[in-house]
Amino acid sequence: MRGTKVFTMAKRNKQKDKSSRGYEKMIATVRDFECGLCGFKTSVAILSDKVVDDPDRTADTLIENGWSSTGKKLTCPCCTAEGVRLDARGGDVDAQLEMGWLCYKGMGVKKSYKKAARWFGLAAEQGEAYAQYNLGMMYKMGMGVCRDHAEAAKWFGLAAEQGDADAQYRLGGMWEKGKGVPQSDTEAMIWYKLAAKQMRKERAE
Ligand SMILES: [Zn+2]
Repeated sequence: MRGTKVFTMAKRNKQKDKSSRGYEKMIATVRDFECGLCGFKTSVAILSDKVVDDPDRTADTLIENGWSSTGKKLTCPCCTAEGVRLDARGGDVDAQLEMGWLCYKGMGVKKSYKKAARWFGLAAEQGEAYAQYNLGMMYKMGMGVCRDHAEAAKWFGLAAEQGDADAQYRLGGMWEKGKGVPQSDTEAMIWYKLAAKQMRKERAE
């Protein structure tokens, strides 16, 4: 869950489309899970090109569906959210970021962009780069907050300075279009170049 972003840059979305086209060929392995805390039972489909018994993929699918497997216990989205909420209220920055994501997706909690933006905001103020990026996106799109390009540029800037490629790319776009910042092709190029360099590095890894 941690590190999930509200939107990633266009290039990555394109790659995603490419792989999702392959979904037709995929096999759904349905597995049953029971919450170790409340006993809630459900079936979760794990998509793969073959019948899976891969614990890593199972864990990823569970996480995507809001389940978590901390320690030996498996917890349902509601119980997961409950635990995360407690930590988030206690000021844990990772939990705040995750809580934002749970509210954004409506996993284990009622879907609310307003609450998502609030949790992202708390984590962002603690300097969490992904939260800063996500908050920037919420301001850019006007989701859960009033659309505000200056706020978006501010949070993209803080995440970009921490080396977040998506934020660098978005910040470049703000400079290029003169949204929230004065128009400057020079500034735009600086951030686009940094984002591109970062992407190459990530791909090489
Ligand atoms: Zn539960």
